[in-house]
Amino acid sequence: MPLYEYLCECCGAREEVFARSVDRAATPPPCPNGKAGKTNPHRMKRIMSPFARHLTEGDKLAEAEATYGAEVEAVMGKGPDIGRLARRYDRLSHDLPPGDIPPSS
Ligand SMILES: [Zn+2]
Repeated sequence: MPLYEYLCECCGAREEVFARSVDRAATPPPCPNGKAGKTNPHRMKRIMSPFARHLTEGDKLAEAEATYGAEVEAVMGKGPDIGRLARRYDRLSHDLPPGDIPPSS
């Protein structure tokens, strides 16, 4: 997930936005100092984020995990419990007859 940074051309306020897609990044966030209305001079313009470039892949993953981990888990479900599966296969193997498994025709 890319991190975009926006700068207000009017007052210099900065906002950082995690974008899920390029489409969403195309819509700048509102300036925190701006007021809604047609004469609002506060316009956020996307700038290159120097902060984002200094993050390692691990930092980005940790940040994304902290921000979206619960959301991803809700959609994808929890990961499999490898220990439980291993114990289950071990139990099942006890019921197999001794010797090699005969080749399937
Ligand atoms: Zn502003």
